[in-house]
Amino acid sequence: MRYISTRGDAPALGFEDVLLTGLARDGGLYLPETWPTFSPDEISAMAGLSYPELALVVMTPFVGEEIPEAEFAELINEAYAQFDHQAVAPLRQLDHNEWLMELFHGPTLAFKDFALQLLGRLLDRTLSKRGTRATIVGATSGDTGSAAIEACRDRDAIDIFILHPKGRVSEVQRRQMTTVTSANVHNIAIEGTFDDCQAMVKAMFNNLEFRDEIKLSAVNSINWARVMAQIVYYFHAAIALGAPHRKITFSVPTGNFGDVFAGYCARQMGLPIEQLIVATNRNDILACFFQTGSYAKGTVHPTLSPSMDIQVSSNFERLLFDMEDRDGDRIRALMAALDQSGEFDVDAARLADSQKLFTGLAVDEEQTLAAIRQVGETTGTAVDPHSAIGVAAGRLARRDAASPMVTLATAHPAKFPDAVEKATGSRPDLPARLADLMDRPEHYDVMPNDLAAVMAKVRETAKITSKGISS
Ligand SMILES: *Cc1c(COP(=O)(O)O)cnc(C)c1O
Repeated sequence: MRYISTRGDAPALGFEDVLLTGLARDGGLYLPETWPTFSPDEISAMAGLSYPELALVVMTPFVGEEIPEAEFAELINEAYAQFDHQAVAPLRQLDHNEWLMELFHGPTLAFKDFALQLLGRLLDRTLSKRGTRATIVGATSGDTGSAAIEACRDRDAIDIFILHPKGRVSEVQRRQMTTVTSANVHNIAIEGTFDDCQAMVKAMFNNLEFRDEIKLSAVNSINWARVMAQIVYYFHAAIALGAPHRKITFSVPTGNFGDVFAGYCARQMGLPIEQLIVATNRNDILACFFQTGSYAKGTVHPTLSPSMDIQVSSNFERLLFDMEDRDGDRIRALMAALDQSGEFDVDAARLADSQKLFTGLAVDEEQTLAAIRQVGETTGTAVDPHSAIGVAAGRLARRDAASPMVTLATAHPAKFPDAVEKATGSRPDLPARLADLMDRPEHYDVMPNDLAAVMAKVRETAKITSKGISS
């Protein structure tokens, strides 16, 4: 399998190079040159496979010969053995023909573990094979930091540094990062805001000398391998509910468009998906796009669902590339318009075509709380605010009540106890694996908002831990 860039100007690469590169050199995102497909008979034959077995079948066409099958199977088995539920991604019935797919049984209680547990292992394997190492640096306002740390901890070829704004992430989120004891994990609390942390990371990536010196890398949401891993659970749910003989609708709480784009990939591969509901909070750039064809940046509003407080969705460019007949010049022009004027439009025919599959809907704070309350009262299940947005939008936007609808539950309710308590009056408990989180010792450095000092710290520490390992 070869991968091409959405901006048409970077070299086509194989799987391992795409994995290590992340962003293409022309600023674009990598996508498979062609979509691998499964026939209805092949999809029928997937019924009854365990989650890791299914993952191997669905992802193998993307990896091709680059990773021997037995080795790939082992990485997949290890990644999904970290999940707390035997079914890995269990379905819970909410109503007649309506299900919740629980994607929060991984180490950090959010769906990002599905991609990152595998990505960390794939990166480590590929770096080790090439006799090299990488330093991952990232900034977090809470959620993604812990998923990245859990993905990279104890990996021989990786050091990971996560910057968080001191005193500005919740205690649970901070402790999920700082109680990790692995020697290759380095937490730094910056005396500043999340934007300060993010600006520092950006500055480090823009310093090419530093970047090469410490072999700087990222595990952000534009990495193709993350999308690839998320395709699997669409197959898992649809097959359990009758695919290929029945069409399935999915409602997906959306921020960076990675998760719902994986649903689109599954459909390109032959999975009979009837409708994909793009559920957003009041940061509704994507919901508006699928309603009007206009993609226009606004300001970010804080909400009860902070992991979706995003205005520019990095993975949306991948869908746009297919919508615009894979014309890299056209994508470059649209992205330039977005940079210059903050918006662009697609033409009516292309919008109408995308609306056959996608429906965008924004859900406000009142509707979010009402959905948490309603699901709690009718089913006894606590849902987190992100998942509640999926449930609410799904119920409003669903076209065909005869086709089963699955809402992706992207976080465990105990990650967002304040919102759940506000809606229902009771606070959800942390699951057993994190029950002693508040008692574990924390490890982190506090540093001033000073780029040079932080760079020196990263340079020094990365060298210390890599001592004895040839680069
Ligand atoms: C990241 C995240 C989302 C949004 O997913 P995207 O792939 O960015 O669209 C939704 N819910 C939770 C809990 C998340 O952590």
